[in-house]
Amino acid sequence: MTAESLLQQAYDPESFRRAGHQLIDRLADHLQHMLAAEGPVHHQIPPDTLYDAWTEAEAGPAQDPSQFFEQVLGQAIYLHHPHYVGHQISPPLPTAALAGLLGDFLNNGMGVYEMGASGTALERRVIALVATAMGLGPQADGFMTSGGTLGNLTALLAARQQRSGHDVWTQGHQNGYQPAIMVSAQAHYCVKRAAQVMGWGEAGVIQVPVDENFRIRTDLLPSLLAAAQARGLQVIAAVGSACTTATGSFDDLEAMADFCEAHGLWFHVDAAHGGPTAFSETWRHLLQGISRADTVVIDFHKMALTPALATGVIFRDGSLSYCTFEQDAHYLWSRQQPEWYNLAKRTFECTKYMMSLKAYTALQAGGGRVTGAFVDTMYQLGQTFAEMILARSDMELAVKPMCNIVCFRWRPSDLSPDQVSPVNAAIRADIIQSGAFYLVQTTLRGDTWLRVSLMNPFTRASHLQVLLDLVAATGIRLTAQDTLTLV
Ligand SMILES: *Cc1c(COP(=O)(O)O)cnc(C)c1O
Repeated sequence: MTAESLLQQAYDPESFRRAGHQLIDRLADHLQHMLAAEGPVHHQIPPDTLYDAWTEAEAGPAQDPSQFFEQVLGQAIYLHHPHYVGHQISPPLPTAALAGLLGDFLNNGMGVYEMGASGTALERRVIALVATAMGLGPQADGFMTSGGTLGNLTALLAARQQRSGHDVWTQGHQNGYQPAIMVSAQAHYCVKRAAQVMGWGEAGVIQVPVDENFRIRTDLLPSLLAAAQARGLQVIAAVGSACTTATGSFDDLEAMADFCEAHGLWFHVDAAHGGPTAFSETWRHLLQGISRADTVVIDFHKMALTPALATGVIFRDGSLSYCTFEQDAHYLWSRQQPEWYNLAKRTFECTKYMMSLKAYTALQAGGGRVTGAFVDTMYQLGQTFAEMILARSDMELAVKPMCNIVCFRWRPSDLSPDQVSPVNAAIRADIIQSGAFYLVQTTLRGDTWLRVSLMNPFTRASHLQVLLDLVAATGIRLTAQDTLTLV
């Protein structure tokens, strides 16, 4: 086949139409099965087996796209399955996934306005909708970026530029300058990583202990600040978690805002998970104080039903969103209107995926009411699940949940204390191997706990009842086997 005909075939509109219709039909059927909780939540295939299978398949006859799609579908973990209660990623809204397909097809690069007009305008709308819901005020503005990890780094780069007292971006760290941030010991690891990326070392993160509910001890902030300053650190920011990853604990943002205001610190809120709480009348109070944040990060691919990745970085004073990567901040001096529409001036990325299409579709779903309904449903289910755990004598709840993240463990009275962690780890491994549920685990105060993020609006109390019974039955079976080698 000539190069020309090869390429013509690869772009053939009729083949695209056929494969596209087939795929959507297949996914709609899949969705129907998933919502009815049919079949396993995933097939656990060892990584090397899967890699070898794909390598071998290349030696065989060429696959058509539908065969390829079918295989990928068969090997996936199904976030739309009500027994998916694992990590904090949404089962995306089907319409948001379609918006993703549109964005993939158009492939508008987004770095400059000319290369992504609608994506750029919608990005500003997405940021405005969230800023309004959070009460960040009329000057708020920002942009979207590739994940909460990068979002937190970007916000903290801006904090460093604003609060260092010299132009760090251009001059680097001057004269032994040692910046630091204060953050809960339970914060997501990416906050520490951001500080280390910026060259601050481990000393650049002052870990603040948490209370019995895993919320930052705001009463310790002043003394820890004084001690850090005495060590020669320049503390420039405090980071609130809304919420923490392990237990879903929302820090007291109002108290943190007071502290930052009193000491001239930048106040950043990592609301990667909990940001969409702002769209819920019932739960919005958990974010009390977020309106005073200098910067906020929100992941749409967690509680806003958007396919990954889609993250917002929002500045209460939108003009400061230009300071991060801008060597010559002319607009600040000249008071010219900055070019909000040439996004690469403000984002880490140059070329960027049209993520706003997906997030906007999800935020506008159901007349803009789906996000709030989702938060309401899932947070309420977290409460229900906690009550179900408390009602059993063989289960223990780590902490009363504040949202849809719940940590618990199997602990019948006759289980010896040194067995509790290894048995619960073994229970999880056994359950996910079976494909019956997908749940995760976390370490709290040195012990292993089972952890669920209730992310699927079709997960009901009845499914969670099945999970608790399965955890208990698995625990009984595993502890009865004396061959069990506990990790
Ligand atoms: C998930 C999460 C992150 C990381 O976000 P990614 O989008 O996975 O990079 C950061 N902080 C918190 C609180 C999170 O829950």
